[in-house]
Amino acid sequence: MKDKQIEKLIKQEEARQKKTISLIASENYVSDDVLKALGSKFTNKYSEGYPGHRYYKGQTFTDKVELLCQERALKLFGLSPEKWHVNVQALSGSPANLAVYLALVPKGEKVMGMSLNHGGHLTHGHKVSATGKIWNAVQYGVNPETEVLDYEEIKKIAIAEKPKMIIAGYTAYPRIVDFKKFREIADACGAILMVDMSHFAGLVAGGAYPSPFEYADVVTTTVHKTLRGPRSALIFSRRDKTQTSAKGNEISFSDLIDKAVFPGLQGGPHMNQISAVAVALKEASAPAFKKYAKQVIKNAKVLAEELNKLGWKIISGGTDTHLILVDTFMNGAGISGDEASNRLEKEGIIVNKNTIPNETRSPMDPSGIRLGTAGETTRGAKEKDMVKLAKRINGILRK
Ligand SMILES: *Cc1c(COP(=O)(O)O)cnc(C)c1O
Repeated sequence: MKDKQIEKLIKQEEARQKKTISLIASENYVSDDVLKALGSKFTNKYSEGYPGHRYYKGQTFTDKVELLCQERALKLFGLSPEKWHVNVQALSGSPANLAVYLALVPKGEKVMGMSLNHGGHLTHGHKVSATGKIWNAVQYGVNPETEVLDYEEIKKIAIAEKPKMIIAGYTAYPRIVDFKKFREIADACGAILMVDMSHFAGLVAGGAYPSPFEYADVVTTTVHKTLRGPRSALIFSRRDKTQTSAKGNEISFSDLIDKAVFPGLQGGPHMNQISAVAVALKEASAPAFKKYAKQVIKNAKVLAEELNKLGWKIISGGTDTHLILVDTFMNGAGISGDEASNRLEKEGIIVNKNTIPNETRSPMDPSGIRLGTAGETTRGAKEKDMVKLAKRINGILRK
């Protein structure tokens, strides 16, 4: 590179990644092929619109790459193109979620998602997010004692509040979500069911976690977490679902979402990113990825069990996914999540501080840390490595 300053920073970041262990549950390590596609000359191309309907000329190859990406996305999750549509242009998870809201829920209407403290994402209606400012957000949480979803309670809130859309799928919830129960809850109050599978999409793709597609109307996901692709997002929608427009026309969710992404929220799609998503989707459809997804969960279970044996309270008592929430404060060593994550970073273990259910501290200095095994499993970690890692973490936090 001619730019030595940036070149140096890239090299330093590469070295940092190499010598640290990342247990950040939302991170992963992409393949060289994904990086190659991301760094390709597709970045030079403006492609406003959708395949076959673009505003600028020169789209012979961008159209092909976007169609291939869509085809691979549907195939990976076992969806028929007659029943499901996928938009691959959203720049990341948050704009993808915002697009769904804009498409399907009139401004000021009610949406219902899990609160941030209990594991929901900012875009599930938190007050600092556009989703909590533009829409009237009702929040649900986990049961304070069991720390898992209480479907009866969620149903009660839904029936009382009658939200237009319910969001299931979270950022810091380690357990299997019962999508069938969410369908019943949505039907009981006439709501759209949106599943945000950002965290566990790779586990669904690998057949290691239940698929939400049988029950959801819309499914959003990031591509860069367990799915191990570039930073990007996908929005799946059922083609048979429609809404009546002001003029009385029936418009499909799929068309409404496409319009909300472009021109509603974005201009030109990032075609280099879309080509890299296509690469990642192909990788995720290979048999090796099924093994990977299973190993991710095995590793997380061992890490959670070992930490628990060493006296750490694991939120909800364990994990069914790649993700573990550890209470470091109330029932831990009396250290905040901020302090715990700082201490671990000094020793080369990168984690994030996280709020926990029944949080008594602030989001900037909460009571827990979140751990995830997607990245280290990509690097080949197995159960025995998790046993060692638990001991190391314990040693650092109890010092
Ligand atoms: C990560 C995440 C997002 C947002 O993704 P960004 O790409 O960071 O905007 C949305 N929803 C959930 C559940 C997530 O975990």
